[in-house]
Amino acid sequence: MEQQLEDLQKQANKELAEVSDASALEAWRVLYIGRKGKLPELLRGVKDLGDEEKRVIGKAANILKRTLEEAYSVKQESFIASAPNKLMKALPAGRQVQANEASVGHLHPITLTIERVQNIFAAMGFIIADGPEVEEARYNFDALNIPSDHPARGEGDTFMIDPKSVSGEQDVVLRTQTSPMQIRSVETMRLTPPFYVIAPGRVYLREKVDATHESTFYQFEGLGIGEDITIADFKGVIAAFFSTFFQKDVTVRLRPSYFPFVEPGFEVDMSCVFCAQKGCRVCKYTGWIEVMGAGMVHPNVLKNMNIDPTKYQGFAFGGAIDRLTMIRHGINDIRMFWSGDIRFLRQFSNCHSGPRAGIHVDAGSSPA
Ligand SMILES: [Zn+2]
Repeated sequence: MEQQLEDLQKQANKELAEVSDASALEAWRVLYIGRKGKLPELLRGVKDLGDEEKRVIGKAANILKRTLEEAYSVKQESFIASAPNKLMKALPAGRQVQANEASVGHLHPITLTIERVQNIFAAMGFIIADGPEVEEARYNFDALNIPSDHPARGEGDTFMIDPKSVSGEQDVVLRTQTSPMQIRSVETMRLTPPFYVIAPGRVYLREKVDATHESTFYQFEGLGIGEDITIADFKGVIAAFFSTFFQKDVTVRLRPSYFPFVEPGFEVDMSCVFCAQKGCRVCKYTGWIEVMGAGMVHPNVLKNMNIDPTKYQGFAFGGAIDRLTMIRHGINDIRMFWSGDIRFLRQFSNCHSGPRAGIHVDAGSSPA
């Protein structure tokens, strides 16, 4: 019987190595470790053995069972991490869409993520705010406690707009972050604490474009202000968000960091949703994935919102929509989003953004 177990292991490993898609993997699982599979069938024979043999074979069979299950989940994980790319390779290259071929459009993966983010936060009581991409420097920098000599304000990082072409007085930029929405939302909506705002949108940086950097990308900004809001409230909100977004039980961890508009500031990591923190390629074998920057709103920023920092406090966070989309769908090149490649986009025709929720507010327009 020991020989039988050994043969089974060899055969199962050989076949698993040849598995190249999810349906073949499922067939393999059913054949070897499924309820009526080869291994359980072999295990049923153990009860007829003598005591000593039963102990030895039983132990070996259990080890084999765990090994095969582990091999199965590793393989499954590799499909999750690289699903869209695998699919793309499977599609015939250069297939033309015929003019008479009726085709129905669907939302872009980035739009799907924006809606998903909005819906989850709206369900927790956040107001959804929209604002301009061409922004006054005072909202983009000054009101956020970023002084005029800060390196991030340089032309090396920021797309500057000729002030003469717009208002003529103010410095105008393509917003480099969604954070100006913090001040804008409070001003435009005349919000008084307690309040919660979520503001997703497009931002621009003079980045050198590569697989993980784009000059045009998307962020979502969050803000929650009240009388006794603490970091614990932030942790709770954000763990609930990621758990809902990935449909997994997610825990978050905070690491100290610096952003001018918060004090204290932190980087936010979430527990890896692909490997239950055992370590995998997506989390670079650390069990954690870096997902956003956050902090408690700086007193100077509260003052710029006309909110009394001695009475109120709160949290602010900023996450990357593109990165969330890449993690969720296993996309390894940010440039795909702007490629216009219909073979890439069609893979998202069946994705959805969750139940709709929330109130949308237009928080002002570009200087003109
Ligand atoms: Zn992992």
